[in-house]
Amino acid sequence: MAEQNSATALGRRLRPAIVTIDGPAASGKSTVGFALAAALDYVYFDTGVMYRAVTRAALDRSVPIDDEAAVTALAAAVVIDLLPPLAGADDGRQATVLVDGVDVTWAVRAPEVDRTVSVVAAYPGVRRILAAQQRRIADRYGSGTGERPGIVMVGRDIGTVVAPHAAAKVYMDATPEERALRRHRELLGRGKRVPYGDVLRDIVRRDEIDSQRATAPLRPADGALIVDTTALTPEAVVAYVLDALAVRVRDE
Ligand code: C5P
Repeated sequence: MAEQNSATALGRRLRPAIVTIDGPAASGKSTVGFALAAALDYVYFDTGVMYRAVTRAALDRSVPIDDEAAVTALAAAVVIDLLPPLAGADDGRQATVLVDGVDVTWAVRAPEVDRTVSVVAAYPGVRRILAAQQRRIADRYGSGTGERPGIVMVGRDIGTVVAPHAAAKVYMDATPEERALRRHRELLGRGKRVPYGDVLRDIVRRDEIDSQRATAPLRPADGALIVDTTALTPEAVVAYVLDALAVRVRDE
């Protein structure tokens, strides 16, 4: 309880009240980001869901993923809503994702989305549209005018492009093998039987596209706290990040 209170107090001292977490697929960003947001009493915002939502909509509406103009037009047209888990949704979701009012929370996690989302996320027009929406949300919470005192934003370019002015930036990484193991376990937990080798191959391919694209490639932001999570539990990473934030606030 005392720990929780001190983390909450820490959250109220960060200005702007934005914490960014970037890193490759399955590096632990969402597990850690969610727990960190709870400790700080911040809103949790997983920006990857927005790229997944546009990809899901393209697949569902037979918009060819390779058609950059059509996918970009789709990104401009769809309405993506991220809500706290609705009452009674005890299926492990961190947020409810709606595309044009339809609940696609789990559909955006399907293997076919994993395979194609990086292509969609490399389109500059798609990034412009989604980053503008993300920036608006960052500004609202970062300025202390949201219903929570701050926000934890998770993605690939949050510390570098979307919110480079954030009070604290974290970059999480782990070996590809460990990340593939985590994702494989998570898929099995949801009843999806995909061979481990396929998961590893897809993760490596996605990382390559995400880090080599021309617009907002994945890389650590200047001044980011870099955490290798390969041998760490999520609890250990959260404690480590909270300690680092406390030192930063104290030394200001
Ligand atoms: O984090 P997650 O694995 O759900 O992200 C899915 C994909 O969305 C990433 O592989 C990346 O291509 C894209 N993404 C991005 N920028 C972000 C968040 C996600 O390009 N800020």
